[in-house]
Amino acid sequence: MSQPFIPAYLKLLKSDELSLRVEQAYPHLEDCDLCARFCHINRRLTIKGAVCHTGEHATVNSFMVKKIHCVDDRVPERFF
Ligand code: SF4
Repeated sequence: MSQPFIPAYLKLLKSDELSLRVEQAYPHLEDCDLCARFCHINRRLTIKGAVCHTGEHATVNSFMVKKIHCVDDRVPERFF
C-alpha cells in the first residue's frame, strides 16, 4: 500500500525547516539581494530604491489555475 500524498510545504512546516528558512531569508530582505538587481535596500523599512517596488510583503496580483493530466492516481484532483 502506498503512502498518502503529503505536500512538501507541510513536511517543511512539521520539521521546523520552514522557520529556519524564514530566519535565513530575513537578512537578505534587509540588504536585498533576492534577485539579480541587487538593490541592497532594507525592504522591511522602505521600498525606496527597490526596482521591484515591493516591501516586506509581496502581493500576488494574479494567478492561473491549470489542470494537468495526472499520471499518478494517488494525487487527488483537488490539489490542482
Ligand atoms: S528588485 Fe526587489 S527583489 Fe530584486 S534586489 Fe531589488 S529590492 Fe530585492
